[in-house]
Amino acid sequence: MTQQNIPEMYGSLVFDDKVMRARLSVDEYNSLRKTIDENAKLDPKIADAVANEMREWAVEKGATHFTHWFQPLTGVTAEKHDSFISPSPDGGVIMEFSGKELIKGEPDASSFPSGGLRATFEARGYTAWDPTSYAFIKDHTLCIPTAFCSYSGDALDKKTPLLRSMQALNVQAKRILKLFGKEVKYVRTSVGPEQEYFLVDKEMFEKRPDLVYTGRTLFGAMPPKGQELDDHYFGVIKPRVSAFMEDLNDELWKLGILAKTEHNEVAPAQHEMAPIFSTTNVATDNNQLTMEIMQKVARKHGMVCLLHEKPFKGVNGSGKHNNWSMATDTGVNLLSPGDTPSENAQFLLFLCSVVQAVDDYQDLLRLSVATAGNDHRLGANEAPPAIISVFLGDELSAILDAIKNDKPYHDKEKEVMKLGVSSLPRFSKDTTDRNRTSPFAFTGNKFEFRSLGSSNSIACCNIMLNAAVAESLKQYADRLEKAKNFEDELHDLIKETITAHERILFNGNGYTDEWVKEATVVRGLSNLKTTADAMPHLLDEKNKEMLMAHKVFSESELNSRCEIMLENYCKTINIEGLTMVDMVRKNYLPAIEGYVYSLAKSMSTVKSVSPNVKCAYEQKTLERLSYLADEILDKVDALEVALEALKDYDNIIKTSEVIRDDVLPKMESLRDSVDEAETLSSEKCWPFPSYGKLLFSVY
Ligand code: ADP
Ligand code: MG
Repeated sequence: MTQQNIPEMYGSLVFDDKVMRARLSVDEYNSLRKTIDENAKLDPKIADAVANEMREWAVEKGATHFTHWFQPLTGVTAEKHDSFISPSPDGGVIMEFSGKELIKGEPDASSFPSGGLRATFEARGYTAWDPTSYAFIKDHTLCIPTAFCSYSGDALDKKTPLLRSMQALNVQAKRILKLFGKEVKYVRTSVGPEQEYFLVDKEMFEKRPDLVYTGRTLFGAMPPKGQELDDHYFGVIKPRVSAFMEDLNDELWKLGILAKTEHNEVAPAQHEMAPIFSTTNVATDNNQLTMEIMQKVARKHGMVCLLHEKPFKGVNGSGKHNNWSMATDTGVNLLSPGDTPSENAQFLLFLCSVVQAVDDYQDLLRLSVATAGNDHRLGANEAPPAIISVFLGDELSAILDAIKNDKPYHDKEKEVMKLGVSSLPRFSKDTTDRNRTSPFAFTGNKFEFRSLGSSNSIACCNIMLNAAVAESLKQYADRLEKAKNFEDELHDLIKETITAHERILFNGNGYTDEWVKEATVVRGLSNLKTTADAMPHLLDEKNKEMLMAHKVFSESELNSRCEIMLENYCKTINIEGLTMVDMVRKNYLPAIEGYVYSLAKSMSTVKSVSPNVKCAYEQKTLERLSYLADEILDKVDALEVALEALKDYDNIIKTSEVIRDDVLPKMESLRDSVDEAETLSSEKCWPFPSYGKLLFSVY
């Protein structure tokens, strides 16, 4: 793609505002805009007009099909393609697409997880157009972003609760702004997700059943060189990778996804891309698309893109950073410190709303990123710990401290901090963004939630974040609306909030054992280490109450989600366990046996010609390997029994606990023995490509 083509290419496959403005009449456009911006009900006549223009535009761009594109609870996206072509009375065909088809679809919902929300006989669910996320063309198909619900109205997807959570925050944030004398059309949250991933050679990938079946390696001894030299981070990008990145950028740009940065990450073969931020539901759609396109483009370049959180043991895994803020329709970022004392008071109130939300709903944030894959990272000194805390940086912390203690915020200042009177310094981004170990960091004008796994849908954490912040804002609005003296009440409110939620603020190193102790013992923060520990908290009374009060989830939706997420955890690990058993029995044990045999044969041959030769290498190696083979056999038998026993539990919470306490340790122990055998065996007899080959084969 030449440089000149970029502006023309950018967004060329998106039915965006520019296209709508050009193609729709002024009335149609304004009416649709009102629906998009202010949640106004869509006029059916407008839907017909939009559908018609969408179809014409899509056909001009080479599309032949359309699909309602949605995000079921599997975590990936789903689509069901229909052709635009309908038979015409004269025996030919016409291209058709009605407003009804745009607004509503009826995919067969029976094979998507519903966690008991929909009896299997009630297979039907429906998809409903989300006009706030633009339609786009992918593989000759017009994709219409939609929500996915059951006929009784329960959300079967991640988008519906996300939109509800954005609406909840919008309502409460507008109440607060009104108190500051500001009438805005809407407040929306924005997100820029930074995405990490690995690239490995396709040929190597295909030789590893563990990667093929589970997305991660279940065995593999460390190569002599790992990431200890840190020579990969921000290093020169290899030609094959840079060809991939160029191609990826082109594909993303066409879809209006502005990929801004790309660089190598800490681990060998690991990279990152960051898009320009957008409205949360659009960012969510775009991140799903990005992950899909990354995998497609990698294949085109003879590579496979691994989105698993921990593809390689002993090598940093992949995460995702959810940069999050709130902004008004006029583009004012509510987490940006202002220029006047009054703006600063408003900023501090919104800042407090986030601090309080994170403290009150630590468990919801933690469980929103909990998956079997991400459990390998959190708390493993490469990602933030499973303990959620907030980093504000020294400057902002000093200001909050001053407010809390009625002190001047700076030695040089004489006046005590008084909201609405004192002004705040402009904090530079540099002073705030240095702590990489914090799960939730303020970075100048936004918060960065860093606990997400690379394959997580960003919908989950943003649902919780939006809802929790909406709850803090609601409490503030309830109190401030009744205040006799707004400024005084505001000052007290902020002061009280800081005091009440100080325990969640932590600027130090989150990777240390001292922090774990302080956080849990002294501060009473929760430390939910695994998915099995975290997920059941979704149904804690305080969490249910809040999420239902803001109409983000119904009770049955919450029950179903807890069940589906735990089921997902159990199924994932069960597949991993079965893959291990399969690889050990079919490949590793025979390989070890073969090598032991060849050592024994060589030893006896050598000894038959020269009886005095010691054959120490053969002797020692074959003895250790034989010992390991026996051990591996015992361990694989035990793992198989443990996996089989899972079928006896009919309670998903119990099953997940057994997996955590029994299955995972058995898998780990089996792996240790096999990995040791790898280090003792000849490369020629080893059945699968080594870590060295997987990590260093792309250049
Ligand atoms: P870096 O962290 O590399 O210095 P930035 O701070 O500019 O880069 O941005 C990191 C990510 O945060 C990008 O995806 C960017 O689009 C996003 N971002 C920047 N501002 C906001 C905002 N107001 N709301 C949400 N995301 C934002
Ligand atoms: Mg970041």
